[in-house]
Order: sequence, then structure tokens, then C-alpha cells
Amino acid sequence: MKSVSNQVLATLPEYPQFDPLMRRAPQRSLTLNHNEKKLALKNALRYIPEQYHPQMAKEFSRELQDHGRIYGYRFRPSGRIHAKAIEEYQGQCIEGKAIQLMIDNNLDFEIALYPYELVTYGETGQVFQNWMQYQLTMHYLKHLKSDQTLVMQSGHPFGIFTTHKSAPRVIITNGLMIGQFDNPTDFNRAAALGVANYGQMTAGGWMYIGPQGIVHGTYNTLSIAGRLKLGLKEDQNLAGKLFVTSGLGGMSGAQGKAVEIAGGVGIIAEVDESRIATRKSQGWVQKVATSPEQAFHLANQAQQKNQPLSIAFHGNIVDLLQHAVEQNIAVDLISDQTSCHAPYEGGYCPQGIDFRKRTELLKKDPKQFKNMIDQTLGKHFECIQTLVGRGSYFFDYGNAFMKAVFDAGFKSIAKNGKDVLEGFIFPSYVEDILGPELFDYGYGPFRWVCLSGKEADLDRTDHIAAEVIAEIRPELRYQDRDNLSWVKNAKEYRLVVGSQARILYQDAKGRKELALRFNKLVRDKEVGPIMLGRDHHDTGGTDSPFRETSNIKDGSQIMADMATQCFAGNAARGMTICALHNGGGVGVGKSINGGFGLLLDGSERVDQIIEQAMVWDVMVGVGRRSWAGNKNSIDTVDEFNQENKEDYITRPHQCSQEILDHAIKD
Ligand code: NAD
Repeated sequence: MKSVSNQVLATLPEYPQFDPLMRRAPQRSLTLNHNEKKLALKNALRYIPEQYHPQMAKEFSRELQDHGRIYGYRFRPSGRIHAKAIEEYQGQCIEGKAIQLMIDNNLDFEIALYPYELVTYGETGQVFQNWMQYQLTMHYLKHLKSDQTLVMQSGHPFGIFTTHKSAPRVIITNGLMIGQFDNPTDFNRAAALGVANYGQMTAGGWMYIGPQGIVHGTYNTLSIAGRLKLGLKEDQNLAGKLFVTSGLGGMSGAQGKAVEIAGGVGIIAEVDESRIATRKSQGWVQKVATSPEQAFHLANQAQQKNQPLSIAFHGNIVDLLQHAVEQNIAVDLISDQTSCHAPYEGGYCPQGIDFRKRTELLKKDPKQFKNMIDQTLGKHFECIQTLVGRGSYFFDYGNAFMKAVFDAGFKSIAKNGKDVLEGFIFPSYVEDILGPELFDYGYGPFRWVCLSGKEADLDRTDHIAAEVIAEIRPELRYQDRDNLSWVKNAKEYRLVVGSQARILYQDAKGRKELALRFNKLVRDKEVGPIMLGRDHHDTGGTDSPFRETSNIKDGSQIMADMATQCFAGNAARGMTICALHNGGGVGVGKSINGGFGLLLDGSERVDQIIEQAMVWDVMVGVGRRSWAGNKNSIDTVDEFNQENKEDYITRPHQCSQEILDHAIKD
């Protein structure tokens, strides 16, 4: 291993040809001074043998100047990168092969937003910082033994260390910054220097499963919003209801599919034609409209017939909403999924210019670009206020939209009109819907990947999942009914893009039971090995006052103890991949989030890991929510404490409002 590791990048491959039709990341802001640019080059050249430094220093310097980052394009393997069947990977242990598969899936042209720039989704969410890191990591994974752990720091493979069989095979951290520097400006500087990676959640955590990953959550959110806010009964769907939103990118691309599965009609504004084309060809949107009139006309026809329909509107969301305001069109649900966690880096397109001009302006005149973004966000906010005034329900879908509006200078979006400490005037979907109805019980985005690449394996696991849901809680809560219906119909929805994966919201019991049953399937050779995981966006995985922990009201929503403990606990219990990141869906400094992967090899050793780790991973979140006083979590913790002989979660005493009011008088 030692002799080979130095030879991975020993020869310079040919400079690659780029597919001209593939989306490319916009130029990233480059604020480095003269000396810092030299440092960035020096840093990147650490991967390259000395004899190539004169040539590569020039090449990297051009990349830094043209793209704002050094990606090391030359080291991208030529041709298609995609998740192959696990047997096609080389490795010393099954986990090493499985992890290579998960990485390749994140970089697939069909999946990744900007595959040449290693961005999987969310405008800036990268798998690695550069292709040298990819090459070296894949090389290490090929040689990784079943008693070793690979340590990853912001995309950089730091090294391989001897541990033991039930230790994690990979420990990943991305973008963790010292508090004083934990802000977008310092982060951008560190990223340009090549020492910080924005891992988003599952991009740098290697657990992305294409847009399917979010369809289920969006379907749940829309369905529950219908029940809680539009007065629909538990067994009613969104038939005849209209949802207006934006974004058909990496994750936002799930919205059309989700609204259709929920039975409603959706119009999704998207400025980038290529993303509309991708979603249309995948069957994730049904119709394309080129004017707001056409979009609302198509929607109205479908609403009249109670037919589910998804319509992509090619244009700016603000144009679409202004039309609804001017024409007095009734919209039931409104949201947004532009990449507002990074509005000034290309995540949000200004009104009045098309997508191509936006990319040019971002490069030529970032100041003017910022001004236009701020104005557009102001108009966007104004439209939403008007429509909400007329009866629409708006929810922030975790893209930091309201924070972006606030940062653009529209302070009235904050509850107290001056800072964001007391939250915003509109609810986030976690505060109103996902938090109380799902996370507080422990329901979250559990997922699995059938590593054989066989559809038949996925069918088998879907079938078992439906059986398990019905067995563990025969009286079925409405959440269980939604999940059961989802998994029974999942194949028909044609959700798979990339690896043979499935997402299924489950609580602690469901996840543990499913994991044990799947591991048995592997043991009995009914299916090939499986990688279990989840989105970081979960009950225990993420601390973020702007999203996941926005429904925690004891003041601890600004703490990151839970996500850190979740990560450490998962590592201690032997999860295969353990990841901890800064940022995620809401931006640098606004969240700490972590995730895991667990390779099911059919062994009894893995059964033991499942018994301990699956429950910990969920109950650390439910327990924290219960301590904060969230009613549904308190009930769930009580049930946990009753059923478990040895484990115990501290339970809060609740003080009445009357006593508090009496104790602290004006
Ligand atoms: P993305 O960058 O791939 O997609 C965003 C899309 O919005 C792009 O295709 C872009 O062209 C389009 N867009 C930008 N400005 C527009 C405008 N003014 N009008 C119309 N279209 C516009 O990002 P993504 O992966 O789809 O994620 C979107 C956001 O949602 C991110 O902030 C992400 O963090 C967040 N997110 C939330 C969740 C969740 O669970 N709540 C999950 C994933 C992502």
C-alpha cells in the first residue's frame, strides 16, 4: 500500500474533453490576494509529483482564475462515471467496494448537478474539492482492509489507520470551521485555498440517491400541509389543489413528482432550460409552459378534473407569482426551492435576465448581480405576502429563502423586525409540519441501496418493507399509512435515477426492524449486499435553527451538541460511514449535520450494530426534542423508556405557564 499510494497520480493523464451539453458550475467568487493565490497553488500541488509542478502550476493557476477554484480537471477519469454493480469494483473488503459505488453514484452525469466540478446538488454541494482527491480516495478504498479506517477531511483523504472490524471504515468531516471564522466569507476563502469542502449533506457524505431522496419528504410535507392547513381529511389527497414553487434542480427536481403522487397540481418555475429537459425526459414533470398564462391555464384544466399534474414553467418564479397576484389566481400552497442558501453564488436567478445572462453577469459584475438578486428577493417576498393575505399557505422548504430575504435587507420578514433570533413571520415546513408530525416521533428519511444493481433486489426489499410496516404497528398511525402506500407504489412511480435505491420515512422501530430483516435477506442470499443510510436532514442528524431544529423552542436550537453526539455515537457503535458537516441545505455557519452508511453483509456482527446504532441514531433526536418539551416526542420517549430495560432517556418535568407568569412579573 505504502509504495503504491505515492504512484496514484504519478503520470499526467491527457487533458479531458468536456461534454458541451453538460451543465457547468458558474465561476466561484475569488477574493484571494496575490500571496493567497500562491498558497492555493501550493496546496493543490501537494497531490502532484514535483517533476510536473512547472506545468501543473500554470494549469492550476488558469483554473483558479477562470473558475475561482482548482478542480484538477485533468485527473477526472475519462468517460462516464456511474454506480456499477458491486462485483465490478476492486477491493480488499466489501465495504471498500461499496463506498466506491456510493461515490460514483454521486458523480454520475444523470445525477450530479455539475459533475465536472464534483457538485452533486444544492449548487455548491461537492463530493470532493478536486479530482486528485477523488483519485486518491478511490485508490485507498481499493486497498482498504476490513480492520482499517480511512479518514477524510473536507474531501482530502488524510490517511488510512488500523482500527478493528466493527469500527467505521470511513470517517468524514466537511467544512467544520472554528466559530470565529464560521461564516460564508471566510469559508469561500478557505474553499478557494483548497482546504474547505462544502459537503452539503449527502453529497460529501456519499449517501445521495438522486432526486428520489427528497420526493418522499416533499410528498409527506405536501400531504400533511393539505391536512393541517387546507382542511383535508386524513384519507383525502390534494386533488384539485394548486401548489406553486420553483426549482427543478438536484433536489428541487423532486417537487413535480411529489405533488403528483400527493394527487395535486403543481407549477414549478425553472430558469434553466436544460434542467427542465432533464426532468421532462425522466418523467418527473409532465408538461412545459413558456408563459405564466399557459402554466395557470394548464393547471386550471387539471384542477377542474381533479387530475394530478406537474407543469414546468420556463422562467423566473417572480414572474409567475406576479401573474398570480395580478390575475387574482387562487393558489393553495406556495413554496420555493431555489438554492437560496447561496443566492449570490448563483443559487438564485435575478428577475429580468435569463439563465445564460445570469451566468455572465455573475462572472463580470458580482456587485450588480447582488443588487439585482436583492431586488428580486424583495419582489418575491411581496408577492408571497399578497397571496398569503388572500388565503394561500406559504412554507419555507429549508432552502434558507426567508434568511436570504432578510439578508437582502427586508427585515420585516423577521418576527421582531430586527434580527432572526425569534424566527420569521412565515413558518418553516419543519416548524409547522415535518417537525411535530414526523421528526418528533422519529420518522425520518431512512434509505437503502441494493449494491448488486439488480431491480429484483429492490423489488424484494420494497415488499419486505411493506410487510414490516404493517407488522410493527398494526393499528397504523396516519404516518404509517402514508409510508405504506408510498412503498407499495414506489416501483410504479419510477423513482430510481442512478443506483437501485429506495427512500422510506421510518421511525426508530421501523428502521431497526427493516435493517434486521434486510440483513437476513442478505444472509440467506435472497439479495446481494445492501447499504443502509439516511439523509442528514433527519430527527437527530442535524442541528439547524433555520430548518431541522426550528421547532425546538427551549433555546437550544442554536446548539450543535445533538448532531455531534449523533455522529460520535454512530462511530462508537460501528456504522460503516460516519459523516459530520457544516452548512448543509441552509448554508455555512447555519447548521451542523451528520449522516451514516451501514453495509449489510448478512453477518451477525452487523445484526448487533443494527440493534444498537439504528435506535441511537433516531432516539438521540427524539430525546432532545422531548427534553425541549415537544409533546409527541415526550410520548415517544415514554414508550421507549417503558420498552427498554437498560436504556433510559431523561424526561422533562413541565412547568405550567401560570407559575412562570407569576414568578416573573413585569
Ligand atoms: P439546485 O441548485 O440544483 O436547484 C435550484 C434550481 O432553482 C436551479 O435549477 C435554478 O436554475 C433554479 N432557480 C434559481 N433561481 C430561480 C428563479 N429565480 N426562478 C426560477 N428558478 C430558479 O439545488 P437543489 O439541490 O434543487 O436544492 C435547492 C434548495 O433546496 C437548496 O437550498 C437546498 O439546500 C434546499 N433543499 C432542501 C431540502 C429539504 O429537505 N427541505 C432538501 C434538499 C435541498
